[in-house]
Amino acid sequence: MPAELACFEQRCHARFPITEVIYNCPSCGGLLEAVYPAPEQSAAELKGLWRNRRTSNAPLEQSGVWRYREFLPFLTDYTQVVTLREGNTPLLDAPRAAWYGGLDRLAFKHQGFNPTGSFKDNGMTCGVAQALRLGMSRVACVSTGNTSASMAAYASAAGLQPLIFLPHGNISFGKLAQALEYGARTLQVDANFDQILALVRQLADRLGIYLLNSINPFRIEGQKTIMLELMDQREWQVPDWVVLPGGNLGNTSAFGKAFREMKEWGLIDRLPRLAVIQAAGAAPFYDLMRSQDHSRLIPVEHPQTLATAIKIGDPVSWPKALYEVTASGGVVETVTEQEIADAKAVIGQCGIGCEPASAATLAGIRKLVASGDMASSADVVAVLTGNTLKDSDYSYQYHTGVLKTANGTQIAPNLGNKPVLVPYDLSRIATFLGT
Ligand SMILES: *Cc1c(COP(=O)(O)O)cnc(C)c1O
Ligand SMILES: [Zn+2]
Repeated sequence: MPAELACFEQRCHARFPITEVIYNCPSCGGLLEAVYPAPEQSAAELKGLWRNRRTSNAPLEQSGVWRYREFLPFLTDYTQVVTLREGNTPLLDAPRAAWYGGLDRLAFKHQGFNPTGSFKDNGMTCGVAQALRLGMSRVACVSTGNTSASMAAYASAAGLQPLIFLPHGNISFGKLAQALEYGARTLQVDANFDQILALVRQLADRLGIYLLNSINPFRIEGQKTIMLELMDQREWQVPDWVVLPGGNLGNTSAFGKAFREMKEWGLIDRLPRLAVIQAAGAAPFYDLMRSQDHSRLIPVEHPQTLATAIKIGDPVSWPKALYEVTASGGVVETVTEQEIADAKAVIGQCGIGCEPASAATLAGIRKLVASGDMASSADVVAVLTGNTLKDSDYSYQYHTGVLKTANGTQIAPNLGNKPVLVPYDLSRIATFLGT
């Protein structure tokens, strides 16, 4: 049985060839996922093989995604794959952050160390590989964020044309600047996100453009390797919790699938619990988990948070995320803008740093430990999704005490670290420094 695309809806489960250019199930509209037969190798053989590949200089083996290709065997020919050596991100112990969160210990899996500065690279190398194998020459997404930056880099590196569509007047400059630098053709459209997405879907069919939005199932396959690499780094010892921020919920879906497959194929013996943290002003998944009716997610009309990477009102991957969080015995929590900002400063003080969305993890841990949902003795890994340089304005404004939410609420610089103006005078500076 070869790799196939399967409808994620339990009542449908329709199957399609892996090379079909579809983004939703043609029979029921459900989400699609790649499914495979079990790998030929035993769990022990795979672990040994993956460890050995780390000593190789071959590009594919140096990739923290493609090194694990036995778990994402959707290609039949790997010679076309374009890698920027994504993945290979560190697992960093952070005692100070552990203390702040109320834990005995805490480690961060830092995806901000990726080539374009976020975990989107893990998925994008796979999405672009699929575009190449399908013979596409253009790829597109609707996004101003890390997805655009990553897609632009991987498409250009692969000789494909990256096309980015954005709602006019709704631009986040830092990440868009990356996309421009990486050569993306960027089209601003006078319409909202959903309208543009609908239009781009039609355009994609007509012009043979491959869509690399969150819904693309091959991106999810690449993001699974974040958890494979984590387990490899931990010598296959399963943590009690994996904590991550939730926006479109692609990562939640990918992590859940990764752990399920690792368990099914004998690499681990239990699942960690997933804790998904949302910003309070953009928490439709939290609301869904709290409600009695799990059959449909009610979108948040005007999502609000300064953590722009998780400012999502209508997350596409919610059915998968619902399944994975439930299967893992996980939880969903929300955190305030102030809690995110302070947690981010603590992660900075560890010498680690991250972008605002990533800091929701530590803020969420602090809340879950305080409420007793997470034991302080628990073995916890939090995933930092993006690099601290992604949003330097936010950091500067926080530390200088001028950070405000969209509705004008002042964020207190509780851990602020302002630059100080001193006179050009040796003894006064020496006095100031306390020597
Ligand atoms: C995309 C992104 C998220 C949200 O991830 P989802 O898979 O959409 O839930 C969080 N943080 C950063 C930095 C991101 O780029
Ligand atoms: Zn279906």
